[in-house]
Amino acid sequence: MGPEVPGVGDVPGVADVPGVRGGRGGEAGVNLLNLRSHNAALVLDLLRTAGPAGISRLELAERTGLTPQAVSKITARLRAEGLAVEAGRRASTGGKPRTVLRLVPEAGHAVGLHLDRDELTVVLCDLTGAVVAERRASLGLGAGADAVVEGAAGEVEALIAGVSVLGVGVALPGPLDHVRGVLHRVTGFPEWDGFPLRDVLVGRLGVPVAVDKDTNAAALGIALGGGSGAGSGGGSFAYLHLGTGLGAGLVIGGGVHRGARTGAGEFGHQVIQLGGPVCGCGDRGCIEVLCLEAVGRGDVDEAARVMGVGAANLVGLLDIDLVLLGGRTVAGHPEAFVRGVRAVLGERARREGVGAGVPVRVASGGARGVAEGAAQLLLAPLFGRGEG
Ligand SMILES: [Zn+2]
Repeated sequence: MGPEVPGVGDVPGVADVPGVRGGRGGEAGVNLLNLRSHNAALVLDLLRTAGPAGISRLELAERTGLTPQAVSKITARLRAEGLAVEAGRRASTGGKPRTVLRLVPEAGHAVGLHLDRDELTVVLCDLTGAVVAERRASLGLGAGADAVVEGAAGEVEALIAGVSVLGVGVALPGPLDHVRGVLHRVTGFPEWDGFPLRDVLVGRLGVPVAVDKDTNAAALGIALGGGSGAGSGGGSFAYLHLGTGLGAGLVIGGGVHRGARTGAGEFGHQVIQLGGPVCGCGDRGCIEVLCLEAVGRGDVDEAARVMGVGAANLVGLLDIDLVLLGGRTVAGHPEAFVRGVRAVLGERARREGVGAGVPVRVASGGARGVAEGAAQLLLAPLFGRGEG
């Protein structure tokens, strides 16, 4: 079902299915292809952000810096591939009415799979990132590799029956290696160390797969504004996720900052109490264990204060524009967490004499935010928005 959409096999972190895609031509052909698909991605991204109202070819040329001829060629190809259609005419100042084009959301789909420590959520998203189908199941990361892979693959197959998809984005707690799709010692589940989750799922499902940390996936979804509301506007923000663990996704200059080894954003394991309680990671006094212990004894205000101390460290290190809070535990007490984190950031700003603290809000992706962001691991590269 659906037309052919641009490939994702050359994007770092996305493993394609061996032998499915045809070989490419000579060197010159490869360069030309890359250039064309880069410009097509720019045009597609403008069509995506224009929404149902559409955008004219002239506006596309102005906003991309491409010539009108180049834009016409690209839009003709996108229309031939079913990715764009004419969306009526719009009056223009002085001249004749201009035909506007819009993206066809249902021309392609991707799956987002959120593997949490005790349950999984899987969503089917259209090209705009909107969720068109969803499934949930209880499945523990501690159930063993065979059970987790089979359980997850079964849910994905049930969701996509009859739909051809670009691939599956998988998000789970780190640490892990996004580029190779290999897990490290997942906090609380060290038995996953070295497991090639991406390649195992490619073999099992027969579609391209990308694997990333839950926090990075959620941050990517927010940065693209897909369903989650809080678009970053090309700025920088930290997404702090408190669920069964505590982590951060960092968006800097509009793109997700993962670091060379996907090690960025290990927010929860900064030590803030020397000799403190033992954390699931094996260290002591990590912000994660202090936060989870406070939640465990029902002291949400203390958990929020601990989270705020970590957020203040981040703001001090990176000078980010915005702090967004998400995850199951935050969703249970959103006002208390926003108030607590905001108070610590506000105190810091007053001490520094820089006026008001960095704004703090709840990320509006809700319980599905991570799964939606995981689908963007496959969708974003089509719009040239894959990497930071
Ligand atoms: Zn720790």
